[in-house]
Amino acid sequence: MKQPEADIIVIGAGVSGLTTAICLAEAGAGVTVWTAEPTTETTSMAAGAMWGPYLVQPLDRVDAWSTHTLAVLRDLANDVRTGVRLVSGIEASRGAVEAPAWGGQLDGFRMCEPHELPANFSTEWRYTAPLVEMPIYLEYLRRRLTGSGGVIQRRRVSALAEATREVGIVVNCAGMGARDLVDDRKIVPVRGQLVVMKNPGLHEFFSEDTGASPDLTHWYPYGDTVVLGGTAQPDVWNRGPDPAVAMAIIRRCAEIEPRFDDAEVLAHRVGLRPTRDPVRVEEESTTGARIIHNYGHGGAGVTLSWGCAADVAELALVPRSQRAQRPPRRRGARP
Ligand SMILES: Cc1cc2nc3c(=O)[nH]c(=O)nc-3n(C[C@H](O)[C@H](O)[C@H](O)COP(=O)(O)OP(=O)(O)OC[C@H]3O[C@@H](n4cnc5c(N)ncnc54)[C@H](O)[C@@H]3O)c2cc1C
Repeated sequence: MKQPEADIIVIGAGVSGLTTAICLAEAGAGVTVWTAEPTTETTSMAAGAMWGPYLVQPLDRVDAWSTHTLAVLRDLANDVRTGVRLVSGIEASRGAVEAPAWGGQLDGFRMCEPHELPANFSTEWRYTAPLVEMPIYLEYLRRRLTGSGGVIQRRRVSALAEATREVGIVVNCAGMGARDLVDDRKIVPVRGQLVVMKNPGLHEFFSEDTGASPDLTHWYPYGDTVVLGGTAQPDVWNRGPDPAVAMAIIRRCAEIEPRFDDAEVLAHRVGLRPTRDPVRVEEESTTGARIIHNYGHGGAGVTLSWGCAADVAELALVPRSQRAQRPPRRRGARP
């Protein structure tokens, strides 16, 4: 396919950058993505990843972005090649907690009966939600982007001016990299560590509501493998796996599901959630080339990805005078 001229440079090839680039390229724009590191080394690659708004504000925009993304991910789950599947499971708590506000959107959402609760748990919600296998999903996004004429290049920038010199519109999807790139001290890392194990036969996800604790307890099954979590350590920058943390994760999960005691450890994953209050999706007022930001998605970058990308595409491609008159945007997207 003939490559269109680049009208837009997207900085970042994590889930935010790739999804945004797809929305722009499928709307007809010539898009080049610049990324400092291969997609396999991004935070996005480390994610769990389950649909669910976590560690993100502001609530009204998060609600719209996550609802939009839910519809797209449900659609993508019809094709196994995307790495998206719908999985049932439970979210449990050892104390009394209210139902999550977003629960009503999920298939089969209901409170469990007391006899369904594991030992030491008092509240539990059952639902079916999209679960995303990031290595497959990110590869799917790359294919979909290049299939629409988008180009991905390895290039680290030290200032957005390196991109604004070349095109009329630059979209900043640099995740944690935005901290230095646009000198934004509001963005802080929340370190997450996961353990990938051979699946001892689990078909359902489990997630404990651990409140503000840095120690999380959850597992997500992906056929032959299962991803166990986790941690949420604010302002911790270390990207190497910590063996003691990994053992503690397995122990917490095995206390609830003893089959983890003998399961084989296959890999460790670590990422820094790019957390910012609020998530930044906006156009900066500049003279010359236009700059649109899309970063700071915390623990929900996958959950917000299609909603934020659609907003960026609207900012980039629809003249301000026409934005309010547009028909409601398409919520589904087929591979
Ligand atoms: C352990 C863990 C579990 C998670 N679980 C979930 C989950 O279940 N559900 C969910 O929705 N989310 C989850 N998240 C959060 C999610 O992973 C992030 O919000 C998301 O990956 C952020 O994506 P991003 O594209 O904005 O950033 P990144 O994936 O970090 O990508 C940033 C990109 O910008 C590039 N870049 C940075 N600086 C520069 C520069 N100067 N020049 C050029 N390129 C640059 C990088 O090379 C990279 O390509 C989890 C995160 C972790 C760590």
